[in-house]
Amino acid sequence: MTHDDFVPLRVLSITDNPHEAAGGADRVSIAAFDPLTLRQYHAAVVTFGPGYRDVVKRIRRHDDLQVYLKPIFLLNTHGGEIIEYGRAVLDGEVQGGAIDRFLKDHEAVITGINTHIAQFTSAPQEHAAHQYGLAVKAIRFIHSRNNPIQPIRFPKSIYAYSYPFIDILITGNHYQQFTLIDFLENRNLIEGTFVDRVHCCSFCYASFLNFREICVNCQSPNISNEDLIHHFPCGYMGPESDFIRTSKLICPKCRKNLKHIGVDFDRPSQVFTCSVCTHSFQEPGVDALCVNCGKTIAPEKLLYRTLKEFKLTPLGEASALSGIVYSLQEELRDNIEVVSMDKFNVVLNLEIERVRRYKKSLSTIVRLVFDNYADLLTQLGSASTALSRQIVAEIADFVRNTDLVAFIDDRTLLFLLTETSISNAKIAMDRLTKRITALITENLSVGLKLSYKSLALDGTRPYNEVLKELAAHE
Ligand SMILES: [Zn+2]
Ligand SMILES: [Zn+2]
Ligand SMILES: [Zn+2]
Repeated sequence: MTHDDFVPLRVLSITDNPHEAAGGADRVSIAAFDPLTLRQYHAAVVTFGPGYRDVVKRIRRHDDLQVYLKPIFLLNTHGGEIIEYGRAVLDGEVQGGAIDRFLKDHEAVITGINTHIAQFTSAPQEHAAHQYGLAVKAIRFIHSRNNPIQPIRFPKSIYAYSYPFIDILITGNHYQQFTLIDFLENRNLIEGTFVDRVHCCSFCYASFLNFREICVNCQSPNISNEDLIHHFPCGYMGPESDFIRTSKLICPKCRKNLKHIGVDFDRPSQVFTCSVCTHSFQEPGVDALCVNCGKTIAPEKLLYRTLKEFKLTPLGEASALSGIVYSLQEELRDNIEVVSMDKFNVVLNLEIERVRRYKKSLSTIVRLVFDNYADLLTQLGSASTALSRQIVAEIADFVRNTDLVAFIDDRTLLFLLTETSISNAKIAMDRLTKRITALITENLSVGLKLSYKSLALDGTRPYNEVLKELAAHE
Protein backbone atom coordinates (compact mmCIF):
# COMPACT_ATOMS: atom_id res chain seq x y z
CA MET A 1 0.00 0.00 0.00
CA THR A 2 1.38 3.42 -0.86
CA HIS A 3 0.67 6.78 0.64
CA ASP A 4 -1.71 7.57 -2.23
CA ASP A 5 -4.06 4.84 -1.06
CA PHE A 6 -4.77 6.89 2.04
CA VAL A 7 -6.33 9.76 0.13
CA PRO A 8 -9.03 10.34 1.07
CA LEU A 9 -8.74 8.95 4.60
CA ARG A 10 -11.88 7.11 5.59
CA VAL A 11 -13.14 7.65 9.10
CA LEU A 12 -15.97 5.82 10.85
CA SER A 13 -17.90 7.75 13.47
CA ILE A 14 -19.40 5.50 16.14
CA THR A 15 -22.09 7.33 18.07
CA ASP A 16 -25.66 7.18 19.29
CA ASN A 17 -26.06 10.93 18.90
CA PRO A 18 -26.37 12.09 15.26
CA HIS A 19 -25.51 15.65 16.30
CA GLU A 20 -22.22 14.51 17.72
CA ALA A 21 -20.88 12.55 14.81
CA ALA A 22 -17.63 13.72 13.27
CA GLY A 23 -19.22 15.92 10.59
CA GLY A 24 -19.00 14.37 7.14
CA ALA A 25 -17.78 10.92 8.27
CA ASP A 26 -19.68 7.65 7.86
CA ARG A 27 -21.75 7.03 10.95
CA VAL A 28 -22.91 3.92 12.81
CA SER A 29 -24.74 3.52 16.12
CA ILE A 30 -23.05 1.73 19.02
CA ALA A 31 -25.60 -1.11 18.86
CA ALA A 32 -25.09 -1.63 15.12
CA PHE A 33 -21.29 -1.33 15.20
CA ASP A 34 -19.45 -4.41 13.97
CA PRO A 35 -15.68 -4.13 14.61
CA LEU A 36 -14.92 -5.93 11.33
CA THR A 37 -16.24 -2.94 9.34
CA LEU A 38 -13.16 -1.05 10.59
CA ARG A 39 -11.14 -3.01 8.01
CA GLN A 40 -12.56 -0.54 5.48
CA TYR A 41 -11.55 2.54 7.47
CA HIS A 42 -8.34 4.25 8.49
CA ALA A 43 -9.61 5.43 11.86
CA ALA A 44 -12.56 5.35 14.23
CA VAL A 45 -14.03 8.29 16.11
CA VAL A 46 -16.07 7.22 19.14
CA THR A 47 -18.34 9.72 20.85
CA PHE A 48 -17.97 10.09 24.61
CA GLY A 49 -20.94 8.71 26.53
CA PRO A 50 -22.33 5.48 27.94
CA GLY A 51 -20.96 2.51 26.05
CA TYR A 52 -17.92 4.22 24.53
CA ARG A 53 -15.51 2.15 26.67
CA ASP A 54 -17.09 -1.08 25.44
CA VAL A 55 -16.62 0.04 21.85
CA VAL A 56 -12.91 0.69 22.53
CA LYS A 57 -12.55 -2.75 24.17
CA ARG A 58 -14.31 -4.52 21.31
CA ILE A 59 -11.91 -2.93 18.84
CA ARG A 60 -8.71 -3.46 20.84
CA ARG A 61 -9.56 -7.08 21.74
CA HIS A 62 -10.40 -8.07 18.19
CA ASP A 63 -8.11 -10.64 16.56
CA ASP A 64 -7.89 -8.93 13.17
CA LEU A 65 -4.89 -6.61 12.91
CA GLN A 66 -6.90 -4.42 10.51
CA VAL A 67 -9.24 -3.85 13.46
CA TYR A 68 -7.40 -3.83 16.78
CA LEU A 69 -4.50 -1.70 15.58
CA LYS A 70 -6.64 1.02 13.99
CA PRO A 71 -6.35 4.52 15.46
CA ILE A 72 -9.24 5.37 17.79
CA PHE A 73 -10.14 8.96 18.64
CA LEU A 74 -12.59 10.13 21.23
CA LEU A 75 -15.03 12.89 20.32
CA ASN A 76 -15.41 14.69 23.60
CA THR A 77 -17.34 17.88 22.84
CA HIS A 78 -18.50 18.57 26.36
CA GLY A 79 -15.22 17.82 28.08
CA GLY A 80 -16.37 14.58 29.75
CA GLU A 81 -13.88 13.35 32.30
CA ILE A 82 -11.53 10.64 31.07
CA ILE A 83 -9.15 8.87 33.41
CA GLU A 84 -5.50 8.50 32.43
CA TYR A 85 -6.06 4.82 31.65
CA GLY A 86 -8.82 5.72 29.18
CA ARG A 87 -6.65 8.32 27.50
CA ALA A 88 -3.75 5.88 27.23
CA VAL A 89 -5.68 3.36 25.11
CA LEU A 90 -6.82 6.03 22.63
CA ASP A 91 -4.86 7.76 19.90
CA GLY A 92 -6.23 11.19 20.63
CA GLU A 93 -9.12 13.37 21.68
CA VAL A 94 -11.23 15.53 19.40
CA GLN A 95 -13.24 18.54 20.49
CA GLY A 96 -15.77 18.36 17.66
CA GLY A 97 -16.21 20.06 14.33
CA ALA A 98 -16.16 18.92 10.75
CA ILE A 99 -14.27 15.90 9.47
CA ASP A 100 -11.98 18.02 7.28
CA ARG A 101 -10.63 19.84 10.28
CA PHE A 102 -10.22 16.57 12.20
CA LEU A 103 -8.32 14.95 9.36
CA LYS A 104 -6.05 17.95 9.00
CA ASP A 105 -5.11 17.83 12.69
CA HIS A 106 -4.61 14.07 12.89
CA GLU A 107 -3.58 13.04 9.39
CA ALA A 108 0.04 12.37 10.35
CA VAL A 109 -0.93 10.06 13.22
CA ILE A 110 -3.56 8.18 11.19
CA THR A 111 -1.29 7.77 8.17
CA GLY A 112 1.65 6.72 10.34
CA ILE A 113 -0.27 3.97 12.13
CA ASN A 114 -1.89 2.73 8.91
CA THR A 115 1.52 2.55 7.24
CA HIS A 116 2.70 0.27 10.06
CA ILE A 117 -0.43 -1.87 9.80
CA ALA A 118 0.21 -2.31 6.08
CA GLN A 119 3.70 -3.69 6.85
CA PHE A 120 2.35 -6.46 9.07
CA THR A 121 1.46 -9.77 7.57
CA SER A 122 -1.42 -11.59 9.14
CA ALA A 123 0.15 -14.15 11.46
CA PRO A 124 -1.28 -17.51 12.47
CA GLN A 125 -0.10 -16.93 16.04
CA GLU A 126 -1.97 -13.67 16.26
CA HIS A 127 -5.33 -15.38 16.19
CA ALA A 128 -4.55 -17.86 18.89
CA ALA A 129 -6.01 -17.02 22.26
CA HIS A 130 -2.87 -18.09 24.09
CA GLN A 131 0.14 -16.12 25.21
CA TYR A 132 1.82 -16.16 21.78
CA GLY A 133 -1.18 -14.52 20.16
CA LEU A 134 -1.27 -11.84 22.83
CA ALA A 135 2.49 -11.38 22.58
CA VAL A 136 2.27 -10.70 18.84
CA LYS A 137 -0.62 -8.29 19.37
CA ALA A 138 1.27 -6.44 22.10
CA ILE A 139 4.51 -5.98 20.17
CA ARG A 140 2.59 -4.93 17.05
CA PHE A 141 0.81 -2.37 19.15
CA ILE A 142 4.05 -0.94 20.48
CA HIS A 143 5.59 -0.98 17.00
CA SER A 144 2.63 0.75 15.33
CA ARG A 145 2.48 3.51 17.98
CA ASN A 146 6.19 4.21 17.79
CA ASN A 147 6.18 4.94 21.50
CA PRO A 148 7.44 3.13 24.56
CA ILE A 149 4.70 1.75 26.80
CA GLN A 150 4.42 3.38 30.18
CA PRO A 151 3.04 2.01 33.40
CA ILE A 152 0.56 4.45 34.94
CA ARG A 153 -0.45 4.74 38.56
CA PHE A 154 -3.94 3.28 38.69
CA PRO A 155 -5.76 3.63 42.03
CA LYS A 156 -8.78 1.71 40.70
CA SER A 157 -6.66 -1.42 40.40
CA ILE A 158 -5.51 -3.64 43.26
CA TYR A 159 -2.19 -3.87 41.39
CA ALA A 160 -1.58 -0.11 41.84
CA TYR A 161 -0.15 0.25 38.32
CA SER A 162 -1.34 -0.63 34.87
CA TYR A 163 0.06 -0.83 31.35
CA PRO A 164 -3.19 0.28 29.68
CA PHE A 165 -2.18 -0.61 26.11
CA ILE A 166 -1.36 -4.15 27.25
CA ASP A 167 -4.25 -4.51 29.68
CA ILE A 168 -6.88 -3.47 27.12
CA LEU A 169 -5.86 -6.36 24.83
CA ILE A 170 -6.66 -8.95 27.48
CA THR A 171 -10.04 -10.36 28.40
CA GLY A 172 -10.23 -11.59 31.96
CA ASN A 173 -8.00 -11.05 34.97
CA HIS A 174 -6.05 -7.79 34.89
CA TYR A 175 -3.06 -9.55 36.42
CA GLN A 176 -2.41 -11.14 33.03
CA GLN A 177 -0.97 -7.84 31.78
CA PHE A 178 2.04 -8.40 34.06
CA THR A 179 2.36 -12.05 33.02
CA LEU A 180 2.38 -10.89 29.40
CA ILE A 181 4.97 -8.18 30.12
CA ASP A 182 7.19 -10.81 31.80
CA PHE A 183 6.70 -13.14 28.85
CA LEU A 184 7.83 -10.42 26.42
CA GLU A 185 10.77 -9.34 28.55
CA ASN A 186 11.99 -12.91 29.20
CA ARG A 187 12.04 -13.55 25.48
CA ASN A 188 14.07 -10.41 24.85
CA LEU A 189 11.27 -8.82 22.79
CA ILE A 190 11.05 -5.69 24.95
CA GLU A 191 13.54 -3.88 27.15
CA GLY A 192 12.77 -1.46 29.92
CA THR A 193 14.01 1.38 32.04
CA PHE A 194 13.11 1.54 35.71
CA VAL A 195 10.02 3.49 36.77
CA ASP A 196 9.00 2.16 40.19
CA ARG A 197 9.01 -0.86 42.42
CA VAL A 198 5.92 -1.96 44.35
CA HIS A 199 5.34 -4.49 47.10
CA CYS A 200 2.79 -7.15 46.32
CA CYS A 201 0.94 -9.82 48.25
CA SER A 202 2.59 -13.23 48.03
CA PHE A 203 -0.85 -14.88 47.89
CA CYS A 204 -2.84 -12.80 45.40
CA TYR A 205 -0.22 -10.34 43.98
CA ALA A 206 -2.30 -7.31 44.98
CA SER A 207 -0.42 -4.14 45.91
CA PHE A 208 -3.26 -2.86 48.08
CA LEU A 209 -1.44 -3.43 51.36
CA ASN A 210 -1.87 -1.96 54.82
CA PHE A 211 1.45 -1.81 56.68
CA ARG A 212 0.95 -1.72 60.45
CA GLU A 213 3.11 -1.62 63.55
CA ILE A 214 2.34 -4.67 65.67
CA CYS A 215 2.98 -6.13 69.12
CA VAL A 216 6.22 -8.13 69.14
CA ASN A 217 4.63 -10.61 71.55
CA CYS A 218 1.18 -11.39 70.12
CA GLN A 219 1.34 -9.66 66.68
CA SER A 220 -1.79 -7.61 67.36
CA PRO A 221 -1.91 -4.22 65.61
CA ASN A 222 -3.96 -2.95 68.56
CA ILE A 223 -1.08 -1.08 70.21
CA SER A 224 -0.62 2.44 71.50
CA ASN A 225 2.53 4.46 71.95
CA GLU A 226 3.70 7.25 74.19
CA ASP A 227 6.95 9.08 74.92
CA LEU A 228 9.41 7.72 77.44
CA ILE A 229 10.56 10.38 79.94
CA HIS A 230 13.95 10.36 81.63
CA HIS A 231 14.16 12.50 84.78
CA PHE A 232 17.84 13.55 85.18
CA PRO A 233 17.97 14.51 88.93
CA CYS A 234 16.82 11.08 90.15
CA GLY A 235 17.47 8.99 87.04
CA TYR A 236 13.90 7.65 86.81
CA MET A 237 12.71 6.61 83.36
CA GLY A 238 9.13 5.69 82.49
CA PRO A 239 6.24 6.37 80.10
CA GLU A 240 4.79 9.88 80.06
CA SER A 241 1.54 8.68 81.67
CA ASP A 242 3.52 7.90 84.88
CA PHE A 243 4.42 11.60 85.11
CA ILE A 244 1.08 13.27 84.33
CA ARG A 245 -0.64 14.77 87.36
CA THR A 246 -3.51 17.06 86.30
CA SER A 247 -1.83 19.52 83.91
CA LYS A 248 1.72 19.13 85.23
CA LEU A 249 4.47 16.59 84.80
CA ILE A 250 5.58 15.28 88.19
CA CYS A 251 8.21 12.59 88.69
CA PRO A 252 6.57 9.53 90.31
CA LYS A 253 9.85 8.64 92.06
CA CYS A 254 11.19 11.90 93.54
CA ARG A 255 7.95 13.96 93.35
CA LYS A 256 9.66 16.96 91.74
CA ASN A 257 8.06 19.08 89.02
CA LEU A 258 9.57 18.61 85.60
CA LYS A 259 10.70 21.99 84.24
CA HIS A 260 12.56 22.27 80.95
CA ILE A 261 13.09 19.57 78.35
CA GLY A 262 16.81 19.13 77.77
CA VAL A 263 17.64 20.67 81.15
CA ASP A 264 16.12 18.45 83.85
CA PHE A 265 14.42 15.81 81.71
CA ASP A 266 14.44 14.32 78.22
CA ARG A 267 12.23 12.24 75.92
CA PRO A 268 14.78 9.66 74.69
CA SER A 269 12.36 7.40 72.80
CA GLN A 270 8.88 5.96 72.68
CA VAL A 271 7.32 3.01 74.40
CA PHE A 272 4.61 0.83 72.86
CA THR A 273 1.98 -1.02 74.87
CA CYS A 274 -0.19 -3.79 73.50
CA SER A 275 -3.88 -3.41 74.33
CA VAL A 276 -4.40 -7.15 73.90
CA CYS A 277 -1.57 -8.78 75.90
CA THR A 278 -0.31 -5.64 77.79
CA HIS A 279 3.27 -6.31 76.66
CA SER A 280 5.50 -3.18 76.58
CA PHE A 281 8.26 -2.74 74.06
CA GLN A 282 10.31 -0.02 72.35
CA GLU A 283 10.67 -1.42 68.81
CA PRO A 284 7.36 -2.59 67.35
CA GLY A 285 7.17 -5.28 64.67
CA VAL A 286 5.69 -4.54 61.23
CA ASP A 287 3.42 -6.61 59.05
CA ALA A 288 1.26 -6.06 55.99
CA LEU A 289 -2.43 -6.84 55.73
CA CYS A 290 -3.48 -7.52 52.14
CA VAL A 291 -6.66 -5.49 51.72
CA ASN A 292 -7.61 -7.68 48.77
CA CYS A 293 -7.34 -11.24 50.14
CA GLY A 294 -7.16 -10.51 53.88
CA LYS A 295 -3.95 -12.44 54.53
CA THR A 296 -1.30 -11.05 56.87
CA ILE A 297 2.25 -11.15 55.54
CA ALA A 298 5.62 -10.47 57.12
CA PRO A 299 7.46 -7.73 55.16
CA GLU A 300 10.33 -10.04 54.19
CA LYS A 301 7.82 -12.46 52.63
CA LEU A 302 6.25 -9.82 50.37
CA LEU A 303 6.97 -9.96 46.66
CA TYR A 304 8.10 -7.06 44.50
CA ARG A 305 7.11 -6.00 41.06
CA THR A 306 9.39 -3.69 39.09
CA LEU A 307 7.56 -1.33 36.77
CA LYS A 308 9.44 -0.22 33.69
CA GLU A 309 8.92 1.86 30.61
CA PHE A 310 9.30 -0.60 27.75
CA LYS A 311 10.36 -0.34 24.14
CA LEU A 312 10.88 -3.05 21.55
CA THR A 313 14.29 -4.68 21.15
CA PRO A 314 15.59 -5.31 17.60
CA LEU A 315 14.24 -8.86 17.99
CA GLY A 316 10.90 -7.40 19.09
CA GLU A 317 10.81 -5.17 15.99
CA ALA A 318 11.54 -8.14 13.72
CA SER A 319 8.93 -10.28 15.48
CA ALA A 320 6.32 -7.52 15.18
CA LEU A 321 6.83 -7.44 11.42
CA SER A 322 6.86 -11.22 10.89
CA GLY A 323 4.16 -11.92 13.47
CA ILE A 324 6.21 -14.80 14.84
CA VAL A 325 7.49 -14.90 18.39
CA TYR A 326 10.50 -17.21 18.52
CA SER A 327 11.49 -18.95 21.64
CA LEU A 328 14.19 -21.53 22.07
CA GLN A 329 12.64 -22.34 25.45
CA GLU A 330 9.14 -23.02 24.16
CA GLU A 331 10.41 -24.98 21.17
CA LEU A 332 12.58 -27.16 23.36
CA ARG A 333 9.79 -27.65 25.89
CA ASP A 334 7.66 -29.12 23.11
CA ASN A 335 10.35 -31.72 22.43
CA ILE A 336 11.95 -32.68 25.73
CA GLU A 337 11.22 -32.22 29.39
CA VAL A 338 12.55 -28.88 30.62
CA VAL A 339 12.34 -28.19 34.35
CA SER A 340 12.07 -24.89 36.19
CA MET A 341 15.18 -23.39 37.81
CA ASP A 342 13.65 -24.10 41.23
CA LYS A 343 13.32 -27.78 40.46
CA PHE A 344 16.77 -27.85 38.85
CA ASN A 345 18.28 -26.42 42.04
CA VAL A 346 16.50 -28.99 44.21
CA VAL A 347 17.75 -31.91 42.10
CA LEU A 348 21.24 -30.41 41.86
CA ASN A 349 21.31 -30.15 45.64
CA LEU A 350 20.32 -33.81 46.03
CA GLU A 351 22.94 -34.83 43.49
CA ILE A 352 25.68 -32.88 45.32
CA GLU A 353 24.60 -34.57 48.55
CA ARG A 354 24.69 -38.01 46.90
CA VAL A 355 28.18 -37.39 45.49
CA ARG A 356 29.39 -36.18 48.89
CA ARG A 357 28.05 -39.27 50.65
CA TYR A 358 29.35 -41.89 48.21
CA LYS A 359 32.63 -40.05 47.55
CA LYS A 360 32.64 -40.60 43.84
CA SER A 361 31.70 -38.06 41.23
CA LEU A 362 30.24 -39.21 38.00
CA SER A 363 27.99 -36.23 37.45
CA THR A 364 28.76 -33.11 35.48
CA ILE A 365 26.93 -29.81 35.25
CA VAL A 366 27.15 -27.79 32.04
CA ARG A 367 26.16 -24.23 31.23
CA LEU A 368 25.56 -23.57 27.54
CA VAL A 369 25.27 -19.99 26.28
CA PHE A 370 23.94 -18.85 22.90
CA ASP A 371 25.56 -15.46 23.12
CA ASN A 372 24.01 -13.68 20.14
CA TYR A 373 20.95 -15.86 19.61
CA ALA A 374 18.57 -12.88 19.60
CA ASP A 375 20.72 -11.00 17.05
CA LEU A 376 20.82 -14.06 14.87
CA LEU A 377 17.03 -14.44 14.91
CA THR A 378 16.68 -10.76 14.09
CA GLN A 379 18.98 -11.03 11.07
CA LEU A 380 17.35 -14.22 9.87
CA GLY A 381 13.79 -12.92 9.91
CA SER A 382 11.26 -15.55 8.90
CA ALA A 383 14.00 -18.12 8.12
CA SER A 384 14.82 -18.32 11.80
CA THR A 385 11.90 -20.62 12.63
CA ALA A 386 13.37 -23.43 10.56
CA LEU A 387 16.83 -22.90 12.04
CA SER A 388 15.44 -22.82 15.59
CA ARG A 389 13.76 -26.17 14.95
CA GLN A 390 17.04 -27.69 13.75
CA ILE A 391 18.91 -26.40 16.80
CA VAL A 392 16.19 -27.77 19.07
CA ALA A 393 16.40 -31.14 17.30
CA GLU A 394 20.16 -31.29 17.94
CA ILE A 395 19.70 -30.50 21.63
CA ALA A 396 16.83 -32.98 21.98
CA ASP A 397 19.04 -35.61 20.37
CA PHE A 398 21.86 -34.86 22.82
CA VAL A 399 19.80 -35.04 26.02
CA ARG A 400 19.19 -38.45 27.62
CA ASN A 401 16.17 -39.29 29.79
CA THR A 402 18.27 -39.20 32.93
CA ASP A 403 19.65 -35.72 32.24
CA LEU A 404 18.07 -32.59 33.62
CA VAL A 405 17.61 -29.43 31.52
CA ALA A 406 16.64 -25.93 32.63
CA PHE A 407 16.76 -22.42 31.20
CA ILE A 408 18.31 -19.53 33.10
CA ASP A 409 17.02 -17.21 30.36
CA ASP A 410 16.19 -17.63 26.69
CA ARG A 411 19.86 -17.90 25.68
CA THR A 412 21.35 -19.81 28.63
CA LEU A 413 20.76 -23.50 29.35
CA LEU A 414 21.86 -25.70 32.21
CA PHE A 415 22.36 -29.45 31.86
CA LEU A 416 22.85 -31.84 34.73
CA LEU A 417 24.45 -34.91 33.16
CA THR A 418 24.21 -37.77 35.62
CA GLU A 419 26.62 -40.72 35.53
CA THR A 420 28.81 -38.76 33.13
CA SER A 421 32.44 -37.92 33.82
CA ILE A 422 33.65 -34.45 32.95
CA SER A 423 35.83 -35.79 30.12
CA ASN A 424 32.88 -37.60 28.55
CA ALA A 425 30.69 -34.53 29.07
CA LYS A 426 33.26 -32.41 27.22
CA ILE A 427 33.39 -34.83 24.31
CA ALA A 428 29.59 -34.78 24.05
CA MET A 429 29.36 -30.99 24.40
CA ASP A 430 32.08 -30.41 21.79
CA ARG A 431 30.13 -32.60 19.41
CA LEU A 432 26.86 -30.74 20.14
CA THR A 433 28.33 -27.24 19.75
CA LYS A 434 30.11 -28.28 16.55
CA ARG A 435 26.88 -29.61 15.06
CA ILE A 436 24.90 -26.50 15.97
CA THR A 437 27.63 -24.19 14.68
CA ALA A 438 27.75 -26.21 11.45
CA LEU A 439 24.00 -25.72 10.96
CA ILE A 440 24.54 -22.01 10.97
CA THR A 441 27.78 -21.64 9.04
CA GLU A 442 26.47 -23.96 6.32
CA ASN A 443 23.53 -21.71 5.64
CA LEU A 444 24.58 -18.26 6.67
CA SER A 445 27.26 -15.65 6.79
CA VAL A 446 26.39 -14.58 10.34
CA GLY A 447 28.14 -16.58 13.02
CA LEU A 448 26.67 -17.86 16.24
CA LYS A 449 28.65 -17.26 19.40
CA LEU A 450 28.15 -20.50 21.26
CA SER A 451 30.11 -21.48 24.34
CA TYR A 452 29.87 -23.82 27.29
CA LYS A 453 31.50 -24.42 30.62
CA SER A 454 31.40 -27.67 32.56
CA LEU A 455 32.13 -28.65 36.16
CA ALA A 456 32.37 -32.07 37.79
CA LEU A 457 30.28 -32.27 40.96
CA ASP A 458 32.64 -33.10 43.82
CA GLY A 459 30.21 -32.73 46.71
CA THR A 460 32.25 -30.06 48.47
CA ARG A 461 30.31 -26.97 47.48
CA PRO A 462 26.63 -26.02 47.73
CA TYR A 463 24.63 -25.67 44.51
CA ASN A 464 24.59 -21.86 44.48
CA GLU A 465 28.40 -21.74 44.53
CA VAL A 466 28.54 -24.31 41.75
CA LEU A 467 26.20 -22.16 39.63
CA LYS A 468 28.22 -19.03 40.42
CA GLU A 469 31.45 -20.75 39.37
CA LEU A 470 29.82 -21.83 36.10
CA ALA A 471 28.63 -18.30 35.36
CA ALA A 472 32.06 -16.75 35.98
CA HIS A 473 34.27 -15.86 32.97
CA GLU A 474 31.63 -16.73 30.47
ZN1 LIG B 1 0.34 -8.21 72.37
ZN1 LIG C 1 12.65 12.09 89.60
ZN1 LIG D 1 -3.50 -10.81 48.95
